[in-house]
Amino acid sequence: MIEIKDLHKSYKMGSNSLHVLKGINFSVEEGELVAIMGSSGSGKSTLLNILGMLDEANSGEYTLDGVPIKDLNETKAAKYRNKFLGFVFQSFNLINYKNAMENVALPLYYQKMGRKERQEKALKYLGQVGLTEWATHLPNELSGGQKQRVAIARAMAAEPKVLLADEPTGALDSKTSYEVMDLIQKINDQGNTILVVTHEEDIAHMCKRIVHLKDGIIVKDEKVKQVRASEYV
Ligand code: ADP
Ligand code: MG
Repeated sequence: MIEIKDLHKSYKMGSNSLHVLKGINFSVEEGELVAIMGSSGSGKSTLLNILGMLDEANSGEYTLDGVPIKDLNETKAAKYRNKFLGFVFQSFNLINYKNAMENVALPLYYQKMGRKERQEKALKYLGQVGLTEWATHLPNELSGGQKQRVAIARAMAAEPKVLLADEPTGALDSKTSYEVMDLIQKINDQGNTILVVTHEEDIAHMCKRIVHLKDGIIVKDEKVKQVRASEYV
């Protein structure tokens, strides 16, 4: 599903540049649940943003579902991103003046789906995250965990090939974090490919594989016995 080879990324800092990713090689098969773990500043978000086509590497190869990303022009890249990738962020990134259902329906609007179908689909995905009764509530009426579940429903409603989550539990207490990981595990059980960026060891062990990032290099890539989050909620 994902294949990257010798990926490098530097940020320009005035006359200097900061070398953040220093030759990343890895691949992800369909259906995997992978944690990208590392301390703050190790380059996790930089890597995830490149995988999510929100940013570009300076060099290296990135192939997503058989397509070399470099070959896409900007319009095609945007289409590809909307169709194949779903995003979840630490800060939820919900639209405050839209209710839960409207937030979930938004990517479907950009896919030019009709109003009725959008609403039906949004309700279906809200149901899957256990929030049917909260459909008409605004984000500020929801708890942090509920907001993240809306964000996950929104990402999944577009039926992406890969779900990319950057510190999805970073703003949540541990019990709520495990509820969100339980949901992520259930979505993965259905065969979806998911990458979770985290700096937390216990969250990483709820994935099936941990890629350890340190100073822009993968220092360890291991399959782990998955801890089920449901044991903790
Ligand atoms: P992590 O997500 O692991 O905490 P990041 O990928 O966000 O790490 O950042 C890695 C390094 O790159 C940090 O030193 C950070 O300050 C720097 N960095 C991140 N984004 C930018 C940017 N847009 N411009 C300049 N430096 C950046
Ligand atoms: Mg980060």
